[in-house]
Amino acid sequence: MTSITEPARATPVCHEADLCVIGGSCTGVFAAVRAARLGLSVALVEQNTLLGGMAAAAQVNEWHSVNDTSGTRRIIGGLTLEIVERLRHRGVIQELRPAHRGQFRFNSAELAVELDDLVRAHRIRVFLAARCVAATRDGARVTSAIIEDRSGRRAITAPFFIDASGDGTLLRHAGFVAEKPTVLQPVNLQAIVAGFHALSAPPAWSDLQPHLASRAYPEANSQPWFFPVPGAPDLRNLFGARLNGIDASDADAYTAALLDGRRLHRAYLDLVRTHTSAPPLAVVAWAQALGVRETWHARCHHRLTGDEILRGHVFTDSIAQGTYPVDIHSAEGTVLRYLDGREERVSRDGSTTWHRWQAGDAPVPSCYHIPYRTLLPREADNLLVAGRLLDADREAFGGVRVMVNMNQTGEAAGVAAALARRDSLTFPQVNPALLHTALNTGGSLLLPPTKVSPNR
Ligand SMILES: Cc1cc2nc3c(=O)[nH]c(=O)nc-3n(C[C@H](O)[C@H](O)[C@H](O)COP(=O)(O)OP(=O)(O)OC[C@H]3O[C@@H](n4cnc5c(N)ncnc54)[C@H](O)[C@@H]3O)c2cc1C
Repeated sequence: MTSITEPARATPVCHEADLCVIGGSCTGVFAAVRAARLGLSVALVEQNTLLGGMAAAAQVNEWHSVNDTSGTRRIIGGLTLEIVERLRHRGVIQELRPAHRGQFRFNSAELAVELDDLVRAHRIRVFLAARCVAATRDGARVTSAIIEDRSGRRAITAPFFIDASGDGTLLRHAGFVAEKPTVLQPVNLQAIVAGFHALSAPPAWSDLQPHLASRAYPEANSQPWFFPVPGAPDLRNLFGARLNGIDASDADAYTAALLDGRRLHRAYLDLVRTHTSAPPLAVVAWAQALGVRETWHARCHHRLTGDEILRGHVFTDSIAQGTYPVDIHSAEGTVLRYLDGREERVSRDGSTTWHRWQAGDAPVPSCYHIPYRTLLPREADNLLVAGRLLDADREAFGGVRVMVNMNQTGEAAGVAAALARRDSLTFPQVNPALLHTALNTGGSLLLPPTKVSPNR
């Protein structure tokens, strides 16, 4: 590849804060808000034009259970529940039956406005349509995040940084170690569609399948899902076909997936129109961002394993807890492993078979735990990661990646920043017990930490 050499330049510092958070999904916003509530001045940088990340820009509009495996005890609180209450107040969230994996379905566009209100109320300095493109570093410390926005190239300085960008932009530009799995979870593009609500039942995949070959909708793709949009009964959120083998941190692959996603939506709607008695159907809005499940993972002080989450291993530095099953999508379909030992295999056409991944008499943990060390990049003193960038193996990531879990990692990172600032500590020096207490004082529902069993 040929290259050019750009002239060296001086970059103006546009803002100085106690904490700079890169990425404005709920993870990043919740980090910023929890830190601001503990007195920090916070800068928040988001490349999209709205806050909310996958939940807003990609219209992924379902939060899973906030209860333990008994289904009765709340184990996730904090800002997740605050946002649920705000959306409930506006009538734009639906509570799903507790037995279902999902618990809440919300209106993505309304969520974005609630996040705007939240950051405004906490005097967080938000940079929208601003992309972190570089970083400066002095030894183990990040010294600035360089952003590019409508005003040009500018720097934000802070004593503490959180990378909640999903792709590890700040982490990687600062030169800390990140790894990208060889097999990534697939991407999907979502669309808001009119007309589906008039169908009495979703078009059966078996009715459409015989016609797939004659259409531009390849059989290799999965059946789209469509979900209600709370507050907008005439619309449906159509989750597009899963696109496998896409590295969404690669610009060309990302562009190709957007083009393919839109083409496949149209092909699917044409199929439904032609082969069912569907009323007129039309896309009325495209998601602003591609739905991305996975790209990079930081190399941290601990890599969470599938075994640790499926067996509910308790960590002394637990900062988040959840029950969402290990859920790995691939070109063959989806395999879900539940904490109670069941395994659900869903084929591409949506048919399901049930198995067990462990014996029926094995103890069922009430939840799993995510330790603080999975957010602590090796060799970094003042940088934490939060959200899907955390360090987890393929199986563990398949479970912890969902938003009710990622939200908690953001909250933990924000509170850790406040403790580090207060006591003049590096992030590795933050005391897990104090972090645990501070998180619960602020509304989190972490269970008491228990000693790690000696054989683990
Ligand atoms: C199709 C699909 C369906 C899913 N279904 C569910 C579901 O039903 N329920 C569920 O809970 N989870 C679901 N997930 C998973 C979930 O959406 C993600 O794991 C979760 O949103 C990750 O959160 P995050 O905050 O780590 O990352 P993201 O939501 O990706 O947020 C990262 C943020 O950082 C910003 N950013 C990135 N780079 C930069 C930069 N350089 N500068 C500034 N900003 C930057 C991004 O724009 C984004 O706002 C699904 C995912 C997909 C793709």
